[in-house]
Amino acid sequence: MSSKLVANQALMKQQNRARVIYTLWKNSPISRTGLAKMTGLNKATITNIILSLQEENMVVHKGSLHGSVGRAQKLLMFNENYGLCAGIMIRAKKINLAISNVHAKILWSTDVPFSAEESPLDVVDRVASVLEEGLAACKCYSEKFLGIGVGTASLLRHEDDMLYAIHSIDWRNVPVIQYLRQRFQVPIIADTASNCAALGEKYFGIAENVSDMLYLSVGYGIGGGLFLGGKLYRGKEGFAGDIGHMTLDPNGPQCPCGKRGCWEMMASAIPTGKSFLELRQAADEGDGTAIAELAKIGSNLGKGIANIINVLNPEIIVLGGDVVHAGKWIMTPCRSTLQEQVWPWVWERTRVEYSGLSSELGVSTPSIIGAITKVIELLFQ
Ligand SMILES: [Zn+2]
Repeated sequence: MSSKLVANQALMKQQNRARVIYTLWKNSPISRTGLAKMTGLNKATITNIILSLQEENMVVHKGSLHGSVGRAQKLLMFNENYGLCAGIMIRAKKINLAISNVHAKILWSTDVPFSAEESPLDVVDRVASVLEEGLAACKCYSEKFLGIGVGTASLLRHEDDMLYAIHSIDWRNVPVIQYLRQRFQVPIIADTASNCAALGEKYFGIAENVSDMLYLSVGYGIGGGLFLGGKLYRGKEGFAGDIGHMTLDPNGPQCPCGKRGCWEMMASAIPTGKSFLELRQAADEGDGTAIAELAKIGSNLGKGIANIINVLNPEIIVLGGDVVHAGKWIMTPCRSTLQEQVWPWVWERTRVEYSGLSSELGVSTPSIIGAITKVIELLFQ
C-alpha cells in the first residue's frame, strides 16, 4: 500500500471519529442507529469508534430506547464529566475566570480585578495562581484538564498570539499567552473577546446553526466577530472584525485612534460617558435627554450595521455586551434606520437581535463561554 493511501486512510479515520464525537456531544442521548443516520457512517464503523471512545471514558451508556418494533436500543451519552475546560477573559480593569464541563456548564468562576499600575506579568501571575485554586476546588487534576481558552478585549496578533494593545491601561505587546503556556501544560488557545463571543453564540446562543453572522459587542466601544460560510473570518493579520473604527462621519468627534467620526465614537456609550444601564433606567423614568441620547446611538448603530448588511448579507446580527441593557430604546431606532438603509429584499431576511446569553446570564457571558468553547472544539478535531 502506498504511503499516500495509508495517510489518506488515517485522515479519513480521524475525520469519522471527529464526526461521531461531535454528533454524540450535540445530540446525546442517542442510539447507535441514530448516530449512523446522522453521520452517514455504517454501523460497523460506528461500533468500532464507540468502543474506542468507551475505553477513553468519553462515552457512557444512558438507558434504552423502546421502539414499537424490535428490541430496545441502548442509548449512548457523551460523558459530561470527561474533562474540564477553563476560560480566561482579559478586560481593561478585571480578568474573568471560569471552569466548566464539556458542555460549557460553568462549575466555578471568579473575577480578578487589577490596576493599570501593576505590571502585566504580575497580573497574569496572579491570574494563573487563582486559576490553580479554582482547578483544585473543582478537583480537576492533569488528566481531566482539557485546556484553557483565553479571550482578550485587545487586538491579538493571530500568528504568534501576541496581545497587541489595551489602550486604556497601556498594555502593549504583552506575552500573556506565552507566559500562561509556561505555567500550564495543556493546550491554550487565544482569540479576541468578540471572536470568542461570536463562537459562544454560535454553539450555545441565538446564532446556533447559522453560517453567516456578525456579533457586535457594544459597550464603551464597539468590537465585532464575524462568521462567514460557517467559519470565523479573521482577515490577513487576524484583525478582521475590529470595526469600531470604521468612519461614520469624517467631521465627527475626534477618536483616540487619531481619526474623526469613528463608529464607536458615535454608536456606543462613549459619547454619553454613562453606562447603557444608567441610560436605560433614566429613559424608563421618562428622562427626555437619555431617550434622545439612546435614540441617536440606535440610529448611528443602524447606519453602520446597514453598510455591513449591504456588503456581507449575514443572516443575523447579534448585539451583545452592555448594550443589551438598553432594550427597546436602542433597538427600535436601530431597526427603523436599517429599514430605511438596507435593500428591502435583504432586510426582510435579516435578523438583528440582542444576545440571549448576555441578557440572561450577564454581559460578559458570551465571550467567556466562547473562550471555553475554543477548548471544547479541540474534542472535535
Ligand atoms: Zn477610531
